[in-house]
Amino acid sequence: MQYFSRFQGLGAVKVRLMSEGLSSVAEARARILGLCAPLAGEEVDAGAAFGRTLRREIRAARTLPPWDNSAMDGYAVRSSDLSGGGPRRLRILEAIHAGERPRERVGPGECSRIMTGAPMPEGADAVAMQERVRAHGGEVEIDLELRPGTNVRRAGEDTRAGEVLLPAGATLGIPEAALLWAQGISRVEVHRRPTVAILSSGDELCPAGEPPGDRIVDTNSPAIAEAVRRAGGVPTLLGIARDTLEGVLERLASAEGHDVVITSAGVSTGDRDFVRPALERLGVEMDFWRVAIKPGKPLAVGTRRGALYMGLPGNPVSSLVTFELFVRPALRRLSGIADVEPPRVRGRLDGRLEKAPGIAHYVRAVARWREGDLWAAPLPTQSSGALRSAASATHLVEFPAEAAAAEHGSPVVLVPISWAGGA
Ligand code: AMP
Ligand code: MG
Repeated sequence: MQYFSRFQGLGAVKVRLMSEGLSSVAEARARILGLCAPLAGEEVDAGAAFGRTLRREIRAARTLPPWDNSAMDGYAVRSSDLSGGGPRRLRILEAIHAGERPRERVGPGECSRIMTGAPMPEGADAVAMQERVRAHGGEVEIDLELRPGTNVRRAGEDTRAGEVLLPAGATLGIPEAALLWAQGISRVEVHRRPTVAILSSGDELCPAGEPPGDRIVDTNSPAIAEAVRRAGGVPTLLGIARDTLEGVLERLASAEGHDVVITSAGVSTGDRDFVRPALERLGVEMDFWRVAIKPGKPLAVGTRRGALYMGLPGNPVSSLVTFELFVRPALRRLSGIADVEPPRVRGRLDGRLEKAPGIAHYVRAVARWREGDLWAAPLPTQSSGALRSAASATHLVEFPAEAAAAEHGSPVVLVPISWAGGA
């Protein structure tokens, strides 16, 4: 990458010093994923399984298409009748529509009118496209040479009974579900969706929807809940904990039985930050680290009785960014998805970035396709409390830990954001 080369030498020393005690984003994600095993299975209707991940492979019950059929509207012919050059006249036996069965065998000098999807009649081995022939009365004139199999969809060219249709770990998108329906398969075994308890904390907070007065609205709870849904989880809101050890413990008690517990705020070292002490008191085995990332440095992670606890930072943008980079992959892994690495695309920087090396920045940006490149323009405000700049962002520019500057036009790696609105 262009901007790495700027800091060899002195830069490398600085990087090591500054990142002391901090995990890199990749290390942190790997450690979190190490704590996530795909959840058990449950049987659901195939029509209600979109976005779910198969627990077992599915084998085809039917061969599809079940018989050779026409790929075109036209005439089913014997290709041997058309070899030798020059126009040929063939007698039309019948018309075969989709959903009908051919009644007649096509003999030499004969053909049958056939529509797309209709079964091929015996004797015929090719279809002459309607647009390429002339029909008069009961005859058709064809001036074409066709190889056997032209415009014919072979039985079993899509699937053959008994073969693996979808492997274990496949996520059901629209064509996958259509494949199942086409097979007459109506129930599938998928991984359970992770249940996620969400707790906000802070004496300054009031629930979204209430008149705030001079309080700060708890936007994290509903925001994280929707992000959880988009990542395939089932959210439950636990409300807002007061900034005391008892306050946090009391709320955490109702998180019992969930697969994942996400808290926001109170996770730093302020004297009213009680999330970590509360998690420890509860018996959560902390795998705590701080991540070399901005926004979002404080992040507490631990496990207890098979549940994953993640303490996110309180600033609304920090919690969304850390959700995207750490929580979403964890929820997807729990749902049985194998490759949960956040997707990335390459783009070019429409602007200039500068920072001290040592910490990776994830810069909110609007990326648009222009003149053959995806140009990412960083939004002017990057404060971790500034929701407005998260509101128009489509991507996060990955500004690597080692880098100190990126110039206009330089290549950048972009993370598309799952919480983006109508970008
Ligand atoms: P903290 O991590 O507790 O120091 O909080 C950092 C900042 O995030 C403070 O300005 C909080 O008011 C704000 N904040 C914390 N929790 C929430 C929340 N649930 N919704 C919106 N803002 C929050
Ligand atoms: Mg707080």
